[in-house]
Amino acid sequence: MTNIRIYQGNQIGGCVTVITGTYKGKTHRIMIDYGSSLAGSETKKDFDYPWDDEPVDAVFFTHYHGDHVGRIMEIPESIPLYMGPIAQKAMINIQEALGNSDRVTNAKEHLKEAELLKSKRVRCFHYNGSYYDAIKDIPGFSIEPYSVDHSAYDAYMFLIETDDESRKTGKYVTLHTGDFRGHGRRGQKMITLIQSYVHKFGKRKVDALVIEGTMMSRSKEKVLSEPQMQYKAAKYLSRHKYAFLVCSSTNVDSLTSFYQAAQMAAFPGKRYMYAYNKYLLKQLRLYSDTAGAFSEAYRFDNTALMDFDYKIQYGPFDDYTTQLEVMQRYGFIAVIKPEEFCEKYLGTFVEAYKNGKIHEMPVIIYSMWDGYLEKDNKAAKPEWIDFFEKQEQKGVEVYHLHTSGHATSKMLAQVINAVNPQDEIIPMHTERPEAFSELPIRAELKDRIRK
Ligand SMILES: [Zn+2]
Repeated sequence: MTNIRIYQGNQIGGCVTVITGTYKGKTHRIMIDYGSSLAGSETKKDFDYPWDDEPVDAVFFTHYHGDHVGRIMEIPESIPLYMGPIAQKAMINIQEALGNSDRVTNAKEHLKEAELLKSKRVRCFHYNGSYYDAIKDIPGFSIEPYSVDHSAYDAYMFLIETDDESRKTGKYVTLHTGDFRGHGRRGQKMITLIQSYVHKFGKRKVDALVIEGTMMSRSKEKVLSEPQMQYKAAKYLSRHKYAFLVCSSTNVDSLTSFYQAAQMAAFPGKRYMYAYNKYLLKQLRLYSDTAGAFSEAYRFDNTALMDFDYKIQYGPFDDYTTQLEVMQRYGFIAVIKPEEFCEKYLGTFVEAYKNGKIHEMPVIIYSMWDGYLEKDNKAAKPEWIDFFEKQEQKGVEVYHLHTSGHATSKMLAQVINAVNPQDEIIPMHTERPEAFSELPIRAELKDRIRK
């Protein structure tokens, strides 16, 4: 028998899945994700998994967001950890940057985590040129990772086959979506992927579908596709030469949208994307080398560390001059954090405008979830709210332009109908699991939703 248990499933973030199977009379388990509850959620202390009483053979990570990997250090040392190869590198970059930062209090912990991520305990999914190899290391289990589109790059859904005598085929098939969306550049491929790889063109049926439902409580949010957002950004950037950007350092698709928009807006020249620190630059280079090898769109060629005094040459026929001079002359898109240490960058341009050195004010594009800036939101970030209030007082325009990393309800319904699970639909990563029965899905599927 196969058993699927979800912990902390009725909230957004910190959801953990444990799948139990039997092989030659012995129980084996895998866990999917072990992350922390998000700030502002009802859970004040995350549950403790009973590692001794219900041991797991391996932990699989869908992607690198903190609500999916945040508790990795609590996993007992004997348990192997599986993740995407680019996710591993991006996570090492994050932990090393935090470990070497003097603005972080528990720096040592981060360096320890970086060591863990580099250790042999971590096993990366292997891409063989057309798909990822199935993992068959756990007795009675076969796990197939499939790349999905999300606001984290190198995110996966898993197809898990467990030996199961109670099924006619001898196998119980579970599809675990992880976090995903249909409106990213690669989002619509998911439906084709379900028909081809998951269903093997009708030769394999899925028994259980474990599916995220973040947007079920955010259905009022207007959702742009990444290309639509890129188009809006290009229009905005062509009107604003000096643009600062607030965007997650690991949201490769949105960074791509803004980077490409800046190039479009600067045609026939090039518009640099400047990074507020070396860490961000390292992440951009990682994405260029990895994602950029699959598609030109993900290549961040015109990037530099923001350092106003640094001497650079904009084009082959230009003289060497300071970066500040180049920024003022040709415009830019500069990624910053809405924190005090980035105020000096904005301040320099506000001053230059007041002194008549440049002829327009700098602007800020805010491309993260608006909830962080809403005073009465449980997840509000007061320091960020202060930062933006201060900039607006100085006359800096703040333009909100963001798109969600999660599937709309329409996409959730499309996926459920396409997967057509024979046994059960298990909503997770959602504050409104009950709302799944209101989705436009076939009647017989509604009866299979786990209560
Ligand atoms: Zn996520």
